[in-house]
This record gives sequence, structure tokens and C-alpha cells, in this order.
Amino acid sequence: ACLLEAMDLYRFFHTQESETLALRGVSLTLREGELVALMGPSGSGKSTLLACLASLDVPDGGHVEFLGMRLTRLSDAERARRRAQGIGILLQSGNLFSGLTVADNVRLPMRLIGQANEKCVDALLADVGLWDRRHAYPGQLSGGEAARAGLAVALANAPQILLADEPTGEVDAETELRILTLFDRRRESGMAILVATHSTFLARHASRVIQLRDGRLHHD
Ligand code: ADP
Ligand code: ADP
Repeated sequence: ACLLEAMDLYRFFHTQESETLALRGVSLTLREGELVALMGPSGSGKSTLLACLASLDVPDGGHVEFLGMRLTRLSDAERARRRAQGIGILLQSGNLFSGLTVADNVRLPMRLIGQANEKCVDALLADVGLWDRRHAYPGQLSGGEAARAGLAVALANAPQILLADEPTGEVDAETELRILTLFDRRRESGMAILVATHSTFLARHASRVIQLRDGRLHHD
């Protein structure tokens, strides 16, 4: 089944110095169980696309449907609720609260929609290789550790869709493999995963690779 569909997305940015067309007619679908690798050089529009897919940003043209629904048409509160339940998001800006430990950051999204399940918290921390860092604060983490902590937060509510920007940046090969194994397990239960990545290892593991270039999408 199709979980997420983007139709003909355009996104302009106007600043005093320049006008950028960050997305130029991007269409894509994300189906149950897929792992899609989104590749492309820096500045090609990957972050902008992820933000639009997550309905954290509103495109200037085109639209996005999550389970056949346009989230941008809902009220702020309703959109936030649907997103919290259905879409796990890890953007470059991160999703960690600096005043909370890694474990408490993972508990937080669970608490927003119910109770933290300690078994799930422990399993997630182990899955992303941060069990021994569970009591650390985000400021004490390396870039790669912060990305993995953010990944655990994004997965906390077992979303139907995961959208992640460079979740395996700055990690060693063993940890990357561990994360891919985690992705495989989630895919088996139907989760669709879209990751912006520079990792050719991850790309080889993906069900599809798509390339962004100057805001245009090339499907392989
Ligand atoms: P990527 O994630 O592939 O590096 P981005 O989506 O961050 O690419 O950026 C795509 C283009 O849009 C770049 O030229 C970038 O400078 C521009 N851009 C992104 N966000 C903004 C913004 N908030 N204001 C102005 N320009 C932006
Ligand atoms: P593992 O994936 O290590 O085999 P489990 O099979 O216990 O661990 O659970 C898989 C993952 O699914 C957990 O890491 C957890 O994040 C998530 N999960 C399972 N049940 C729930 C739930 N009720 N609420 C939130 N997340 C859940």
C-alpha cells in the first residue's frame, strides 16, 4: 500500500541576495516495507524535500498525501497529532532536547501519546548502539551518536514512516550494519523508510535509490 505520496512539489526560497528554486516538480511515492535511499550533492534539495514530506514545511506548489490525506489541510493540533503517531522524523537540525538524557529523549515521544514502554526504550537504545550512552546528555555525544540517538527518538512510537537525514553519518561499519538490520526488521513489519544519505553501503541495501539534482528527482 502507498503510505506517502508527493505530487509535483515546488519550493522557492527568496532572500535578499538570491532566489533559489530548491524543488522543481518532485513526485514520489513511498510504499509499505520500502527502504528508499535519497542521494544527491549538498544543496540539491534533500533537506527541503524531507521537510515537505513531513509537512513541517509547506511547498509553494504541489502537495503531499499521508495515507491519502493532506496533512497541510488539518489544524495545527491535528496535524501534529497525526505526525506524532505516524511519521518518525530525523532532520539535520536534530530532535534531541539538551536538558534530557538520551533515554529520556527516547521516552518523551512515547509519553506524548501514552506511557513510556521501558522494554521498548531499552531495545531501541541497544538497536542503535547507544545502550552504554543512555545516561549521557546530547551535549556529550559525538555527531554520529547524536544522529543515532535522534534515530531512536524518531522510531520511539513505531511510526508507519521514517524520514531521516543522514542517520548513519559518522558511524563505523559495524554500527551502520546494526542500523540496517534494525531497518530490515522494521520493514518486515511494514514500515516505509526514506533516508537522505551519502552512504553507498546503505544505497546498495535499499530497495530503491533516487537522486536529487538541482531540485529535480531522477528515479533509478
Ligand atoms: P541539501 O539538503 O540537499 O543539502 P537543501 O534542501 O538544504 O539541500 O537546500 C537546497 C537549496 O535551497 C540550497 O540552494 C539552499 O541554499 C536553499 N535553501 C534551503 N533552505 C533555505 C532557506 N530557509 N532559505 C533560503 N534558501 C534555502
Ligand atoms: P527488537 O526490535 O529489539 O526485537 P521488540 O521486538 O521488543 O525489540 O520491539 C521492536 C521495536 O518496536 C521496539 O524497539 C520498539 O521501539 C517498537 N515497539 C514495539 N512495541 C511498541 C509500542 N507499544 N510502543 C512503541 N514502540 C513499540
